[in-house]
Amino acid sequence: MAEPHDEMTPFEAVTFFFHEAADAADVDDATREILSGTYREVRVQVPLRRDNGEKHVFYGYRVQHNGARGPYKGGVRYDLSADLDETRALASLMTWKTALVDLPFGGAKGGVQVDPRSLSSPELERLTRRYMSQVSYIVGAHRDIMAPDMGTNAQTMAWMMDAWGQKAGHDPAIVTGKPIALGGSVGREAATGRGAIMVLDEAVRDAGRERGDLTIAVQGFGNVGSWAARIAVEDGYRVVAVSDIGGGIYVGSGLDLEAVDRHVEEAGTVAGCPGTEPLDSGELLSLDVDVLIPAALGGVITKSNVDDIRADVIVEAANHPVTPAADHVLRDRGVEVIPDVLANAGGVTVSYFEWTQNIQQFHWDADRVNAELRKRLRRGYRTLLDFADSAGCDLRRAAFGVAVDRVAEAARLRGYL
Ligand code: GLU
Repeated sequence: MAEPHDEMTPFEAVTFFFHEAADAADVDDATREILSGTYREVRVQVPLRRDNGEKHVFYGYRVQHNGARGPYKGGVRYDLSADLDETRALASLMTWKTALVDLPFGGAKGGVQVDPRSLSSPELERLTRRYMSQVSYIVGAHRDIMAPDMGTNAQTMAWMMDAWGQKAGHDPAIVTGKPIALGGSVGREAATGRGAIMVLDEAVRDAGRERGDLTIAVQGFGNVGSWAARIAVEDGYRVVAVSDIGGGIYVGSGLDLEAVDRHVEEAGTVAGCPGTEPLDSGELLSLDVDVLIPAALGGVITKSNVDDIRADVIVEAANHPVTPAADHVLRDRGVEVIPDVLANAGGVTVSYFEWTQNIQQFHWDADRVNAELRKRLRRGYRTLLDFADSAGCDLRRAAFGVAVDRVAEAARLRGYL
């Protein structure tokens, strides 16, 4: 296989990891073509009348990557980077993620190429309802189930559910990550961040290390990063640095996250939080910490900054934060990378719990959600480790290896070919 390089697009990068696993799994050419491509891609125009009367046309996508193991599942991202290639990459990652943690779903992703901070709340609502209506003919509670991602949240899901209900009749299982008052699951909002720390716990235990001895830096303080940081502190780790789009902050003895939350409430960014030292995002990545948690955009650790990384463990709470070229350098250096398809699978796992609760019209409590989440992620981690041990490979190749085997088997049993 050709050497990876940093000019790969996000979808090329994810597909590169797929091919590495498929080579080792000895998948036939036709199956490889099915799994390396996407099943269906929809691009829609999403016209919006702004509050001031101006008209604007946005573009939205829904990419269904593979549905061999069940209904398509994945979030919807509102971000300027959410173009077709990025959406394909994220859809493909959802297929491998749901397979690795053994959820009865396939993989999909959606996006609208928009900066959600540039729209008012009524504008976001109109945009969301229009997007849902434009893609409604390919979604459904047993067809394709959407969820929040970067730039979207429980409110977005409530609008989507309502827009769907007006067309097809009320069905809470049409989307996950809803507000609890509308059938959302307790624990869903924190689930991706919590899952990242649960997976880290497994690695820490295996390494015979103590949580209290370990320092953590988190890049990104949105839903995923802020919950990962909070839960890490609750669990006894020392979170020394966090950053967001406005900049980063550092306290060697550990950040007071309640003070950081108060500052974010007022200032809209972690930057400038009193009692902390300033950092930029690049400095955060190269801090001498035990654990680095990229929890923001993809492609942040590249060939050009990988040599600056000093952490022993990287937990990929974001999707595809490490490019294939940087990944090879980290692998050769023996840095333990816990891959995105496991490290951020907590969100879709609790989405699965939400979906089953909606179908049964029955609510679980927080203890049950978190215990089931830990059980699923622990099982995923153990499966991945066993695969890595027997194949003699690192965790990313093991994760793709397990997932590719499972999806290929489902495709074969269904008689795809
Ligand atoms: N957007 C999240 C992810 O990338 C969650 C998807 C879901 O819950 O369906 O995994």
